[in-house]
Formats: sequence, C-alpha cells, structure tokens
Amino acid sequence: MRIIFLGPPGSGKGTQGELIEKKYGFPKISSGDMLRQAVQERTPSGKKAEASMKRGELVNDDIVVEVIKERISKADCKKGYILDGFPRNIHQAKKLEEINQEHTEVAIEIYLSDRVVFDRLGARLICSSCGAIYNLFVRTPNKKEICDVCREKLTLREDDKPEVIEERLRVYHEQREGLVDYYQNRKVYFRIDGEKKIEAIFSDICSILDKKINRFIEVEAPK
Ligand code: AMP
Repeated sequence: MRIIFLGPPGSGKGTQGELIEKKYGFPKISSGDMLRQAVQERTPSGKKAEASMKRGELVNDDIVVEVIKERISKADCKKGYILDGFPRNIHQAKKLEEINQEHTEVAIEIYLSDRVVFDRLGARLICSSCGAIYNLFVRTPNKKEICDVCREKLTLREDDKPEVIEERLRVYHEQREGLVDYYQNRKVYFRIDGEKKIEAIFSDICSILDKKINRFIEVEAPK
C-alpha cells in the first residue's frame, strides 16, 4: 500500500507517519528529512536544494523526484510505504504514479487552520541527529531540550521561523486544491481533522487503513 499524507507544515504528518510505520510496518519516507540530510551532507542535490528550503519555497521537482525514486526502489518499500511531504504538486503526483504503479493508493489529508499551524510550529523542536519530533506543550522530551532516543540536543528548525512559515503556508495553499482534486478523482482521498489529539488522529487514520486493507484481502488476495 502507498500511503500519502497531505497537510500543511505542522499538521503532524511526521508524527502520524512514525506511528503508522510502527503499527503496519511500512517505512515512513519524508522528503523534507531526506532533503535536510542531503543539505547537511553537502551532496549535489543538497547544495541545489538548500537556498529554496531556507526561503520556505519548494525545491525543484526533478531533484525531489530523483531522491524519492531512489528511496522507494529499495527492498523495504516492496510491500508499501508512507510518504510524508511528497507529492507537493500535481507534477510530482503524476511522476509518483509513473515510477510506481503497483500499490493500492490512499491519500489522507490532515486538515487544520493556519492559526494552529503557527502555534504548533513555533513550539516544535527536532533532534538534529535522528530527526525525532517534539513539542514544547504536547510531546515534551523527558529531559529538557534533549532527545529521548539518541540524547542529542533538540533545536528549532530553521524554517520554523514565522516569516518562513508564512511562505511555506502560502506555497501549501497554492498547491493544495490541485492535489486534493487529483486524488479525489482517483477516489482515494480522505480528509481527517488534524486539530484533534495525536491518539485520536491516529485512530482515524487506522480506521481508514484497516478498511482499505480488509477490502484488499477480500477482493485481491488469493483464496
Ligand atoms: P517539510 O519537512 O516537508 O516541511 O519540508 C521542508 C522543506 O523541504 C520544504 O519547505 C521544501 O523546501 C522542501 N521539500 C520537502 N518536500 C518537498 C517536495 N515534495 N517538493 C519540493 N520541495 C520539498
């Protein structure tokens, strides 16, 4: 199964992706994490992506598509995967379909207001080493500003500054409608309330996925 999370920055795509990965075993792939790693390692893609990321703009489609293509061709993605942050526009959605046609697809939009996005992103901390995500109010680390997983220092993401958040939201809204239409036309689109608690959102996502998985077993699995 190919699970696509749509939603503005700060909607919890990463957090939910991690929970879904743990429960269903599909690897979570975050285009943003992969690009940040490429920037950190100074790879050719990272160097090209860096300036756009700092401004909160989208990175060139060819670069992102290449990064995703390479990742989903790995053995752990054979049964499916979870995409967090990709596709971000219709061109990327079409490319994804070209690269990988075999999986049942589900696109879940985690919907929330811009006001909540601002509040959440300002309170978000990430581990610069393993990428674990925390929040100053709802998902606090055991030790102040230290990652529970790898004990590294937690930091604010550079693009979580207010002026960059504004740009990221502008870009998000510009592309959202087209993507929603695209997946609605394919009858694989679901929308859930992203302002609920993490556990409640997780439960909403699981019920969508369980229905899809059960239908797959009924219709397609060999008797
Ligand atoms: P994210 O962690 O998903 O919020 O992504 C952080 C930044 O990485 C975005 O603001 C973009 O600059 C870049 N990025 C991530 N995914 C994509 C994508 N699918 N297409 C273009 N740029 C992306």
